[in-house]
Amino acid sequence: MLAVRFMFISPWDLAYVVPVAFIANAIGVNTAYHMYFTHGAFQAKPSFRVVLAVFGTILCQDSLIQWVANHKRHHRHVDVPDRDPHTPWQFGESNWRVYTVGLFWASVGWKYARRSTSKAYYAGSLLKDPVLRFFDKHFVVVSYLGLMVPFAVGYALGGWQTGLKGFAYFGAFRVFVGYAFTELVINGFCHCVGSRKFATKGRATNISSLAMLSMGTTLHHNHHAFPQSLSTAVDGEIDPMQWINGFFAKCGWISNVVHPSAADIAAKKLAETTGPRYDGALGR
Ligand SMILES: [Zn+2]
Ligand SMILES: [Zn+2]
Repeated sequence: MLAVRFMFISPWDLAYVVPVAFIANAIGVNTAYHMYFTHGAFQAKPSFRVVLAVFGTILCQDSLIQWVANHKRHHRHVDVPDRDPHTPWQFGESNWRVYTVGLFWASVGWKYARRSTSKAYYAGSLLKDPVLRFFDKHFVVVSYLGLMVPFAVGYALGGWQTGLKGFAYFGAFRVFVGYAFTELVINGFCHCVGSRKFATKGRATNISSLAMLSMGTTLHHNHHAFPQSLSTAVDGEIDPMQWINGFFAKCGWISNVVHPSAADIAAKKLAETTGPRYDGALGR
């Protein structure tokens, strides 16, 4: 009976569960793991650095330094089969390969292929930081706590039923949304569907229609063009992360935010918008 009740979520619950999941994931993936620890798009106060490490680790995607190493490798060898860890172009360029096994590889397959990316080679500077080494080493424990703390809070407030709700809504659902967006949408679709307007290596694309829902992350082509820019909105687009990161900056928790100059943006702009198969600058 209890299981059946959990299959139905009321609109009232959806109204807070979905925004909390999206914002928590956006901070964990986008602000923390991606733009801060990988690309150094801003500086953070030491205490806020720990907060970012927690938000990133409870995504349950990968340990902090391993995630950074994989992503740095992705940028360095973007869309080159066998070098980029998760390109959907891994098995060739025919449409049916890219949109079937390629997307499966980019979202699920690469995770289980046991191809290791060297943390020392790609993220050696992070290995020198004892706090980050701690989070990297205790990835499983911190991830587990990220699932169980919502259960414990719910249990304390209202017993087993509220505890399970806490786990399902703020643990499992949050992790599922983060995984789906990072792996399937960004690693997969944002490298084979959509448009391109800057000269970059690889085939990363913008899916502008999903920019609001994805908190700006589907402007992924913009990110590959300007990897250190904290915001993906570099050419008049909307990036909701600007509002969240702007709040962090106002509070003094982050500073020295990187954004490209108008001249840098103009210099990289293509004469016309293209699709993912524009490969004049494909890095090989
Ligand atoms: Zn990419
Ligand atoms: Zn990146």
